[in-house]
Amino acid sequence: MNNDNWNIDMTPDESSPERPANFIEQEIEKDFHKPKLAGKSVATRFPPEPNGYLHIGHAKSICLNFGLAKKYRGTCNLRFDDTNPTKESDEYVQSIMADVKWLGFQWSNLHYASDYFPQLYQWAVQLIKAGRAYVCDLNADQMREYRGTLTLPGKNSPFRDRTVAENLDLFERMKKGEFLEGTHTLRAKIDMASANLNLRDPVMYRIMHAHHHRTGDQWCIYPMYDWAHGQSDSIEGITHSICTLEFENHRPLYDWYCQELNIFHPRQMEFARMNLTYTVMSKRKLLQLVEEKLVSGWDDPRMPTISGLRRRGYTPESLHMFCDNIGVARFNSTIDVVILENAIRDHLNAVAPRVMAVLDPIKVVLTNYPADNTETMTAVNNPERPEDGTRELPFSNELYIEREDFMETPPSKYFRLKPGGEVRLRYAYIIRCDEVIKDAQGNIVQLNCSYDPDTRSGSESASTKKVKGTIHWVSAKTASDVQVRLYDRLFLGQDPEDVPAGKTFLDNLNPDSVKTVTAKVEPSVAAAAPGTRVQFERNGYFCSDTKDSAPGAPVFNRIVTLRDTWAKIAGST
Ligand code: ATP
Ligand code: MG
Repeated sequence: MNNDNWNIDMTPDESSPERPANFIEQEIEKDFHKPKLAGKSVATRFPPEPNGYLHIGHAKSICLNFGLAKKYRGTCNLRFDDTNPTKESDEYVQSIMADVKWLGFQWSNLHYASDYFPQLYQWAVQLIKAGRAYVCDLNADQMREYRGTLTLPGKNSPFRDRTVAENLDLFERMKKGEFLEGTHTLRAKIDMASANLNLRDPVMYRIMHAHHHRTGDQWCIYPMYDWAHGQSDSIEGITHSICTLEFENHRPLYDWYCQELNIFHPRQMEFARMNLTYTVMSKRKLLQLVEEKLVSGWDDPRMPTISGLRRRGYTPESLHMFCDNIGVARFNSTIDVVILENAIRDHLNAVAPRVMAVLDPIKVVLTNYPADNTETMTAVNNPERPEDGTRELPFSNELYIEREDFMETPPSKYFRLKPGGEVRLRYAYIIRCDEVIKDAQGNIVQLNCSYDPDTRSGSESASTKKVKGTIHWVSAKTASDVQVRLYDRLFLGQDPEDVPAGKTFLDNLNPDSVKTVTAKVEPSVAAAAPGTRVQFERNGYFCSDTKDSAPGAPVFNRIVTLRDTWAKIAGST
C-alpha cells in the first residue's frame, strides 16, 4: 500500500516507556495508514461518569488514553459522561479533575456530554425523519417482554410503525415535559430479530423529570449511554474510542448510529477491565462503603480510589509504573495487589528518606552510659542515593527499641536482643541486656543494658567485635510521640465478592484493617509536613496524613510494609 496519507509523524515520542507496542498501539499504527485518518493525529478521551470518585481501574484507563496521546503526539480530552442526572454531582466532577491532574496529565479539552444535548436532540429528529427512530409507549416490563432472549427473537413494538409526523410530534411533547416518566421512550428502529440484543430497537431517550448538575431543569428527556457516547466521540473528532470489554457487544450499535447519521466515525476498541485482589472496584460498592460509614470517606487511605491511594501515600509515579507493568490485556483478569504494593515499594526505595521510628516501644537504659551525656550519631538518609547525605541522630543513656526486638526466652537463631545477649544499635553501639524489669503483672517495662564504648559505628575499633543482629532505636530524651495508623487490607478474601448465598461483599470486610499506635520518632520527622513520605527503617513506608495531621503533629499512615508479609504468612502455613 502506498503511504500517501502517511503525512503525520507517527514515530513514538522518545520519552514514552520502552516496551513492545501493545495491541491497541499496533492497531492505531495500522489505522494511520488508512485514508480516513489522513492529516489527523491520534485523538483519545477519558470519559468518566461523575457518579463517584475514580479508582485504580480508572487510573489504568487514564494512563492508557493520555499515554497514547503523548506517545503519538496527539490529543486526549477529559469528557464527563453526565447523562444520568440522578447520580451525578459537581463534587464528583471536581474530584475527577483533581485526580487526573495529580496523575500528571493535562487534558487537551474539557467537555461534558451534557453540552451536546441540543445536538443529540437534533440528530434524534434527523433519525425520526429518516424513519430510523420512533416513539414507543411500552413500559419497561412490556419492553423486556418484547425484547426476547438470547435464544428467542424479539417482537416488534406495536408503536413501531408510527408515521414520521406522529413521531416528531410525540418526541417534541416528550421534550416539553407533557408525559410522565416511564410512559414513552424514543427508540432506534433497527432489528428486533438481531442476534445482538443491543440492536433490538435500543432506547435512545427516556423521560426523567430530574435536575441535572449542569443543565438544571432544562431537559426532561435524557440520552442513553449508547446514544450519547459515540456521538460525543464523533463531535470531538476522537479517532480511537477506547473502552472496556463489556462494551464489545455495543460496538455494532456504536457503528450503526455513526453510519445512519453519516457523521465522523471513530473506532471503538475494547480492552480488559482491570480487577485487583482484596478489593472491590465498582463505584456503586465503593459508594456503599462510604454511605454506610464503613470507611471514613472516598479518600479513606484503605480505599482503592485514587484519592485514597494518594492520601495513603502512593505516588503518581508508582501508579504509572503499576499500570505499565500490568500492560493492556484483551481478556479480563485479576491483578494481584502485591504488584501494586511492589510498585510503591520500588519507587519509595529509590526516593524516600530513611528515619528511625519505634512503633511499639520498650525502654532501654544503658547503665554504664553517663546520664548527663549525649552524643550524635551519623545516619545515612538514603543508601540508594548517596547525594541525599547524612543527618545527626541524638544518642543518650535512655532509648526505645521495638518490643518485638527483645525476647526473654528466644528460640535458637534469634539474633536480636535477649537476656545476656548482644545486638548492634544501628549507627551506634553494641549493647548487652543485663536485666529485665517487670511490673506487678509481669509485663516487661524496661531493659537494663550496658554498651560497649569500643563499638561505636564508624570508629576504628568497631569492627573488632561482630554480632549477628542490628536493630533500630530512638533516644528517649529527644523522641517525639506521633500517631501512626497501621493499615491492612480492607477485605479478607482475595475476591471479596465471592460469598455464599445470603452474604454480601460487606461480610468480607477485614475487622482489623487499621490499628492506631503511638510511636516514638527521631527529631527529623517529629514535625514532618503533611504528605511527607519516609521509610521507617525496618518497618515500612509511611506518609504523614494530609487531613488529620496538625502543624507540628503529624499523623502517619503506613503505605506498605517493607516486604510482602502476606506472602510470607501464606508461604509458611
Ligand atoms: P464502575 O463500574 O467502577 O462504576 P464505570 O466503567 O462505570 O466504572 P466510568 O466512569 O464509566 O466508570 O468509566 C470511565 C472510563 O474508565 C471508561 O472508559 C471505563 O471503561 C474505564 N474504566 C472503569 N473501570 C475500569 C477498570 N476497572 N479497568 C479499566 N478501565 C476502567
Ligand atoms: Mg459507568
